[in-house]
This record gives sequence, C-alpha cells and structure tokens, in this order.
Amino acid sequence: MSPTYDVIVIGLGGMGSAAAHHLSARGARVLGLERFGPVHNRGSSHGGSRITRQSYFEDPAYVPLLLRSYELYEELERATGREIATLCGGVMIGRPDSRTVSGSLLSAERWDLPHEMLDAPEIRRRFPTLSPDDDEVALYEARAGFVRPENTVAAHLQLATRQGADLHFEEPMTRWEPYRDGVRVHTAENTYTAGRLVICPGAWAPRLLTDLGVPFTIERQVMYWFQPKGGVGPFLPGDHPIYIWEDAAGVQAYGFPAIDGPELGAKVAFFRKGAVTTPETIDRTVHQDEIQAMADHMSRHVPDLPGAFLKAATCMYSNTPDEHFVIARHPAHPQTVTVACGFSGHGFKFVPVVGEILADLALTGATDHPIGLFDPHRLAAAPARGVRT
Ligand SMILES: Cc1cc2nc3c(=O)[nH]c(=O)nc-3n(C[C@H](O)[C@H](O)[C@H](O)COP(=O)(O)OP(=O)(O)OC[C@H]3O[C@@H](n4cnc5c(N)ncnc54)[C@H](O)[C@@H]3O)c2cc1C
Repeated sequence: MSPTYDVIVIGLGGMGSAAAHHLSARGARVLGLERFGPVHNRGSSHGGSRITRQSYFEDPAYVPLLLRSYELYEELERATGREIATLCGGVMIGRPDSRTVSGSLLSAERWDLPHEMLDAPEIRRRFPTLSPDDDEVALYEARAGFVRPENTVAAHLQLATRQGADLHFEEPMTRWEPYRDGVRVHTAENTYTAGRLVICPGAWAPRLLTDLGVPFTIERQVMYWFQPKGGVGPFLPGDHPIYIWEDAAGVQAYGFPAIDGPELGAKVAFFRKGAVTTPETIDRTVHQDEIQAMADHMSRHVPDLPGAFLKAATCMYSNTPDEHFVIARHPAHPQTVTVACGFSGHGFKFVPVVGEILADLALTGATDHPIGLFDPHRLAAAPARGVRT
C-alpha cells in the first residue's frame, strides 16, 4: 500500500502551520493534525503580539535566519493581505555589560546591522515614556518591531489549505510508529500513513518527543495589559518602540506600544520568570500579587504605563537547558521524522523560516540554512534549566 500522504505534520501552531504551508507550496501531499481548533489560545502562539528584532542578543548565529524570516513575513503579507509585521523600531536597554545590550551589539556588529547606541539622556529625549537609570544605555534598531501571532498562523493555514493540504483540527495524534519506508500515525478516529513525519508539538514536546532525550522545561508565562496613566497617546507605535529591558539584577521585562486600540492599552511581560508547569496543569488564573509585581516593576522603568490593569493571559514557554531551539532530523529516525521544538520563549519571529527549514529537511533530508546550533545531540543528558520563580 502506498502512503496516503507525503508528509504528516503534527501540531498546527506557529511552526507546524508554517511547515504545512511550505510543504504544500512545494507540491507535497500534506496532512496536518492539530489537537485544538485553528488559531487557539492554549499553546504558545497567542496574545496579539510578538517582538521581532535582528540584533539578536541570544547568539549571532540566529541573524541569517532572521534576515530570511523577515523576507518570508513580507511574502506572507503580500500573499494573504493580512497585517502581520510592523517595524516600529525597538530598544534593547540595560547596563552596557548586560547580556541584552552587549549581546545585541555583538550581533549588530558581526552582521553589520543598522543600529544606534543611545545613552540615558538620549533614550529619555527620544522616548519620553522610558525612564532609564543614568548608567543604562540602549541599542536602538529601526528594523525591530512586532508580528501578529494569530494572523501569522491564520495566514499559513489559509495558504496551506489553498495549496491542497488536508488540515484536521480537534484530532490529536495519539501515537505513531515506523511503517515500511515511512510512518503510521494514529488518532482516536483514524490511522494515516505517510512517507515523512514532521513533529511541531510546542509545550507537548516532553510527551511527544521523550525519545529525543532533551530535558524540556515547560514554563508558565503571563502577559499583562495596562491602561497608561495619561491615555495611550504617547504609547502609539509611530512614536513608541518595542523594548526589552534588563535591570541591574538581570531581570528582563519587555513591552509593546499601544497597538490594539485605546481600550486595550499596552502589553508588558517578564521574559523568563515563570513557574514550571505542564499543558494539562497550567494555572490559567492570573493572581493579584502577580499583577502588582508587574505594575511595581514597570513603575520603575516606564512610570506612566501601569495605570489601570486591563487584562492578563497565560502562555507557555518550552525551554531547553541552553535556551536554543531544537530543529533537526530525529536522531533515532533520521530518514523519516523531523522535529521542531524547544523554542524557549523566543521562537515566533522565526516561524516562517522554520517552516522553510522543515520543508527542506522533510523533503530533501538537508537544508542550506545554518541550523547547527539547534542539533539535539548537544542536549542529551544535560540537566534541565533552572527556572527562576
Ligand atoms: C507569553 C509569550 C511571549 C512570547 N514572546 C515572544 C516574542 O516576543 N518573540 C518571539 O519571537 N517569541 C516569543 N514567544 C515564543 C513563541 O511564541 C513560541 O516560541 C512559538 O509560538 C512556539 O510555536 P510552536 O509551534 O512551537 O508552539 P505552538 O504554537 O503552541 O504549537 C504547538 C501545537 O501542537 C499542538 N499539539 C500538541 N500535541 C499534539 C498532538 N498530539 N496532536 C496534534 N497536535 C498537537 C498544540 O495544540 C499546538 O497547537 C513568546 C511566547 C509566549 C508564551
């Protein structure tokens, strides 16, 4: 019996929807299986906005992927007419030796990316809502901004469907096994066969990809929307950048301009300050003490931001011990299975290029994109990353 599909994609969130698009665009017969409905809010790809930037403090090795991702985001907007990426500018703020500033500068210089260094008086002059300490500086990048996660996923699903992919929602994979030269995938309703399997499980990686041997940590994250004290005027995206701010204690917080209309104010969050959780047990209630802690933190840096608290939402990071991604052919099944997981809270800006890489790996076994950093072998037997609470 010949396989029913060329490729089955598990998970149609950020990465899986992009994979389904790129695979079907190349003519592959694709089945996508998703646990929930299209564009849902129970994984890692919701909340209205994600920061995008190129001067990447995490590692200069990400920069070529970002350059490609920016091109693909533009193509996605053109192909679907949806509003997806807005480059309103961004500041990475901290002491000069903080990872946020020094790492961003390293990437900017290594890749010759346009940027400006601002001292504290210049930050205050250019961006009056921001209130840095005298010893803080910023790397300003005009090509930073934000992308819309829900629109991105919807656009990829729309194109994949248009290109003939079968996308099944509310139909989780229960298990899979090697079958002849490919795979057999089971759900409660059906069994499917295919030549290749692409697994993009987000926070379900600890369950779906135990055999990778990577100690993932799923982290609960909270996004907060506040009404600025004097209204949204000074926070509108024409004048206001996205920001990532590392304080003297090494705590990173980040925020967006007021991009969702006056009634939703502006969004802020801590970067990496969450409790360990699982998709089944995550506490979706945001508690008063958490809201107060966020408001107190922001009142030191963006004093006009925390006026009235408007709303909050939870989300999950899937962390690897070194906070770098896992994108590879599965070590135990290199001919048939490709995985993309462990995006460690910074994956969304890469969604389109990850889709392209997954299509390369699944259809040809190799990619020209530099993905050496994302090899899971580096993490086998590594201890799980300590999570601050
Ligand atoms: C609060 C928050 C803020 C963030 N901010 C940024 C940011 O500013 N910039 C940035 O670049 N990144 C950011 N990120 C990270 C980024 O959003 C994630 O890295 C990215 O969304 C991960 O995509 P994914 O496809 O791996 O996961 P998801 O989008 O969650 O997709 C995984 C999918 O797999 C499905 N699934 C699981 N198991 C099965 C199964 N058995 N069968 C079928 N389907 C299954 C799930 O239902 C889900 O839809 C943030 C994340 C959070 C939570």
